Amino acid sequence: MSAITLKNVTKRFGDVTVIPGIDLSIEDGEFVVFVGPSGCGKSTLLRLIAGLEDVSAGVIDIDGADVTGTAPAKRGLAMVFQSYALYPHMSVAGNIGFPLRMAGESKEAIDKKVRAAAATLNLTDYLHRKPRELSGGQRQRVAIGRAIVREPKGFLFDEPLSNLDAALRVNMRLELSELHAQLKTTMIYVTHDQVEAMTMADKIVVLNRGHIEQVGSPLTLYNKPDNLFVAGFIGSPK
Ligand code: ADP
Ligand code: MG
Repeated sequence: MSAITLKNVTKRFGDVTVIPGIDLSIEDGEFVVFVGPSGCGKSTLLRLIAGLEDVSAGVIDIDGADVTGTAPAKRGLAMVFQSYALYPHMSVAGNIGFPLRMAGESKEAIDKKVRAAAATLNLTDYLHRKPRELSGGQRQRVAIGRAIVREPKGFLFDEPLSNLDAALRVNMRLELSELHAQLKTTMIYVTHDQVEAMTMADKIVVLNRGHIEQVGSPLTLYNKPDNLFVAGFIGSPK
């Protein structure tokens, strides 16, 4: 589990400032949703936290330690990608165990962790199947399994459900909420979908053009939006 603090985190691409300086505290074990329209900087902010992009200015702390400029592997956070990022030629077990093989862990250790992750995700009966032999929801769980085996301090999700159909998205939201209740690990979840934000978050961060419009619980944002952007985006009656 892990607390994450951003201080004046800024990102420029060339002359273009995409994130003009964000301050944000994420508590240990919190489920935080970054929500905002396409192009507002959600993915960039997540990639800065993951260490996949370098900040132009500012500081990122994880559990009180300054990790600004450190490699992604040093941060202990796992990024969950959309399910189409699975390796089609590998079995479910092969896909889930992939990061552990890359890390050079023993076959026994890998097998044990893969089985534990599969049990958590209800995939035990599917370990020998290939991704094409799974449903969309099962494939999404395999993508999550690949993050779980690394026993991360936190999970970072970038619109993981956006390629699933509506009914499946509803199911996967529930599954992710259950997973969070079970693991109690810090999770940051990026979406442009207000309903996802409202149903899943402990805390919502509303982003617009690279800055934070408001941070609060779903209830607070709905009942007390700070401005018209938040009210309009969340759909509350202001
Ligand atoms: P979101 O995930 O909210 O849709 P992004 O974080 O992907 O938004 O992008 C925010 C802005 O930053 C966009 O205007 C995008 O074009 C720009 N951007 C993202 N990555 C790069 C990059 N590598 N180089 C230049 N501009 C980028
Ligand atoms: Mg994005």
